[in-house]
Amino acid sequence: MPHHWPEDTDFALLELDVIDRNCPVCGHMMYICDHRHRHFFTLDGPVHLVSKLNHCPDPCCPGHSKTKSPEIEPTIALPGWGIAWDVFCWIGHRRFSRHASIPQIRADLHDTFAIDLAVTGIANYIDRYQAMLAARQQDPETLRRLYHQTDSLILSIDGLQPEKGHETLYVVRELTAKRVWFAEALLSATADEVRRLIAQAKRWAEDLGKPVALWISDKQDAFVTGIAAEFPAVPHRYCDNHFLRDLAKPVLEADSHAKVQMRKKVRGLRGIEQSVLTHRRDATPVEPPPPPEPESAVTETLLSADLCPAEDDPAGDVVLDYCAAVRGILNNDQGGPLDPPGLRMADALDEVRQSIQRNLDVKKGGSRRSN
Ligand SMILES: [Zn+2]
Repeated sequence: MPHHWPEDTDFALLELDVIDRNCPVCGHMMYICDHRHRHFFTLDGPVHLVSKLNHCPDPCCPGHSKTKSPEIEPTIALPGWGIAWDVFCWIGHRRFSRHASIPQIRADLHDTFAIDLAVTGIANYIDRYQAMLAARQQDPETLRRLYHQTDSLILSIDGLQPEKGHETLYVVRELTAKRVWFAEALLSATADEVRRLIAQAKRWAEDLGKPVALWISDKQDAFVTGIAAEFPAVPHRYCDNHFLRDLAKPVLEADSHAKVQMRKKVRGLRGIEQSVLTHRRDATPVEPPPPPEPESAVTETLLSADLCPAEDDPAGDVVLDYCAAVRGILNNDQGGPLDPPGLRMADALDEVRQSIQRNLDVKKGGSRRSN
């Protein structure tokens, strides 16, 4: 869809010449026979590109009826594009690296670069970007170079759901090079469809001439049967990550239950704190507010404040500190399946209990508290 440029658009003018002007057929010096005009967006603003087209001056030469375009042009913008490569790469990066939605990309292009593209146009560029990315990722020559020194391959397959309601994307990865080999969205993940992907991985491995040492997956039925059929002698192991995640579920459920029980048992912090504060308030003599004093007297006032009964309550301080520590422990939800929060809570509460016990033991002996 051609872009509608407003009348007052301020285009930067760019003129391109053919660099090699020898006729490819007869070698004559070619002449300029026409100019091609195009307009497109770059990140630096709109461009008016003038390409000088050449042809052979000899009417008898087959080079006469053909025109040659400047070699540089496709490195700035591909034919038919309304954007230059820099905008194209920016869109692709936003979509695939930053996971921005098309409306977001459209708004950012407008706000940051004053580039107005339609939603369908952006979707179209994203499709092309994805095709280029996939082609590069799957380029056999690149792969051969990458796997040149690899002895054997470890393959994995997994089904991902990129967004809720979308069909599942099946991804085949090779783990020694940490590389996605290919991915395909399967509308119906029947055993036959999944097996087709596994067979494709087999062809890739054969093309590379490398043996497959291991398959890793979450062991869905279709994976188990497909891999057993295509790779009969290759071991198929449970993926660590899936294994841990599946195992973690009951562990974290039990841990969460334990936390609830501990919180039920360790309560009444507010009551303890209030009794300390009430005790302090009752012990503080009610004084009229002191009259404003000159600066030299301030230090003296601060010193005398230390003698105030409410400040001189070390036992109360200790009680409040313990309450704060216990509250911190009860509110701490950090930790994962390998370091469950409930176990951390139990350990921390136990330390507090031992600390209090040490204080009680010291008090029985008649000396002061210790931590
Ligand atoms: Zn010619």
